[in-house]
Order: sequence, then structure tokens, then C-alpha cells
Amino acid sequence: MDYRTLGRTGLRVSEVGLGGEWLEGKSAEEVCAVMDSAIHAGMNYIDIFMPEPNVRSNIGSALKGRREKMLIQGHIGTVYEDGQYKRTRDLSQTKEAFEDLLSRLQTDYVDVGMIHYVDSAEDYAAVFETEIIDYAKSLKAEGKIRFLGLSSHNPEIALRAVQTGLIDVLMFSINPAYDFEDSASDIYSQMEFSGLKADGVHRPDSARRELYGFCEAAGVGIVVMKALAGGRLLDASQSPFGTALTVPQCIHYSLTRPGVTSVLVGCSSVSEVETAAAYCSASDAKRDYSFVFAGNPQIQTAGNCMYCGHCRPCSAHIDIPVVFKLLDLALAAEEVPATVAEHYDSLEYNADDCIECHLCERNCPFGVKIAERMGYARRIFW
Ligand code: SF4
Ligand code: SF4
Repeated sequence: MDYRTLGRTGLRVSEVGLGGEWLEGKSAEEVCAVMDSAIHAGMNYIDIFMPEPNVRSNIGSALKGRREKMLIQGHIGTVYEDGQYKRTRDLSQTKEAFEDLLSRLQTDYVDVGMIHYVDSAEDYAAVFETEIIDYAKSLKAEGKIRFLGLSSHNPEIALRAVQTGLIDVLMFSINPAYDFEDSASDIYSQMEFSGLKADGVHRPDSARRELYGFCEAAGVGIVVMKALAGGRLLDASQSPFGTALTVPQCIHYSLTRPGVTSVLVGCSSVSEVETAAAYCSASDAKRDYSFVFAGNPQIQTAGNCMYCGHCRPCSAHIDIPVVFKLLDLALAAEEVPATVAEHYDSLEYNADDCIECHLCERNCPFGVKIAERMGYARRIFW
């Protein structure tokens, strides 16, 4: 397993983490077996949004005596009512549900307290203009949460939230289909791929690119949900690209977006954990997702780098997608963000090393003028 730093939190997080959703309804033994295999695979991050009491207790039991093995992301604003999950902005319900989470997990704190599912302007106001945000801040001040997070499916709302400076971690729905959707800003239309019209031309969603870039530059770590689009991208008959992707390809796509630290894969069994963790040992060829877009006449990337890495290797050992990711972040800002400049300076090989051999361009399925863009990078990061 490889690990990345979760933005400004400084936490070292496994590239593949565990989404807890599908543990609901499982026995204590089954939950423990999934936890065993996740820890064995090197996963050290779990998302727990579920308010259902048994699954919380079972996860608490599975972590008993080894709490330090998992960074816990626990949600603020989910309650269990009449036998069902419900999102709430009622303060007393929110407090009661969060204390229940700590108690059932048998812990004093969670590492990331995640304000749950803010997708609309109304809901943004119901969190950021009420005592809910004060409560979240007080949890952080008391040490019951180490860092504050927020989950969303809407790039504009998520951007507003991270721009407050209060949010250390963003949980966001990212996969190749959602990133090419126009105006699909809620989870229901995203799940239907309704922003992707069958006869339309699809371009990268600019609001999403802006969000990821902002997070990378501001040190807001992104953890990804719905990287497989609920499994639909794995099925050619349901994939909007008309072709099936694999689990490693979906995970790799998300991990190569700016700002992304970890992809949380919902697993209900040991074999699903093993399938997700297999990403770590997959070859570059097995991870390569470029074929999904390349040659598809409906997909237009306008010469933008997709960070796919298909152009590797470079004659001068430059990590081309990393340089271009930093270049895009720099070009999107009025001034090169300090974090971006620092990252660029830390590269062993950079655009200065390009010998303009153009060999990489033969391998780029998107027609990126790589040597020319290395020239831009040299000028931007001189
Ligand atoms: S043109 Fe530059 S970036 Fe491309 S392979 Fe040659 S040295 Fe590497
Ligand atoms: S230059 Fe082309 S092949 Fe290389 S990472 Fe970008 S899009 Fe992929």
C-alpha cells in the first residue's frame, strides 16, 4: 500500500481506504473479518456515515484494542430515525448522534469530523449560517475531532465550503463520468449520468477542475467517494462511455486528480477488500484509463492533459502528468500558489530537463503538445 499526505492535516493516509456503507446489515464477525483484511492490506482510513446503531457498534468492536490502526472519518449530521438513515441539521439531534458515534466506536475522538452531505445553497446556509458550524468548531476545539471535513457532490457548493478556510478535508464524488458531466450538480442526476447526453459532446467539467485545483493549492485533502459510480462504470452496458472500466482504472483515475489523497471503496466482504487493495500491486498498464476517452469522438479534451500517464516513460525522466498538473494549477491562479511552487521545486526532474525529443507525444492519446507545454512550464516556474 502506498500512502499520501492528507493536505494540511499532515495525516498519512492509504491511497485506498475503506468506505463503511456496505458493512451495515453484516454480523459482528463479518465486520471484524473485513476490518482484519483491510488492516492487513495496509488500509488505514475508514469512512463512517451510517447512523444505524449495530454497524457502529460492530465497527467499534472490530477496532477494539487497535484503534490506532485506522484513521476514522465520522459524519456530523446523520441520525437513525424510524429505522432509517436521515440527514439532519437539528442541533440536538446532531449532538446526540455524534456522541452515539463516539460511544459505539469506543473512542474519545474521530480523526476527521465530516459535516455530512451539503449539496445545495439552502443546505449550505443551514450549516454555515447556523449553530451547526459552531458545534463542529467546538468539537474540534475539544479534541473530539482532530480535523473538520465536509462531504458534497456539488462542485460549486464544495468550493464555497473550502473557501471558508474551515474545511481541512473534502469528501467528494469523483469518477470519469462525473468529471465529464455538464451541470450534474446533485447525486441523483450524477448517478443517472444525466449530464452526459448520448448524442452530445462531453468536455471536462470546469467547476470540478476549479474545485480540485483550489483544494490542491489550499492544502485541503480530498477523499473520494463513488469512484466506481456504484459499480456502473464496471459494466459496459451501463457505462456512459460504452466500455467497462476495471476497479484499478477507476481508482487510478481518481487518484490522478489534483488534491486527491485517498479513494474510499465501499466493501462488504473480504474479497471486495482484496479487489480494492489489488490496485496497489497493479501495473501501470492495468491502471491506465486513457482508452476510455481516447478515440471517443464524443469526448473533447481540447488539448488538456488528462494526467493519465500514458506518455511515460520520458527520455529525461520527467514525471509528465505531475508537471502538467502543477502547470494547470499555476495557470488557473493569478499568482503561482506557494504550495504548487514548492511541489514543483521538489521534483527531481522538471521541465528544465526536457530535451524536446517529442517521443512522449507519440504515446499521448489526447494530442497534447507535450514539449511545447514543457516550455510553458519552464516560463511559469522559472
Ligand atoms: S519531449 Fe520532453 S517531456 Fe517528452 S519525452 Fe522528450 S524530454 Fe520527455
Ligand atoms: S500528456 Fe497525454 S499521455 Fe501524458 S499524462 Fe497528459 S494526457 Fe496523458
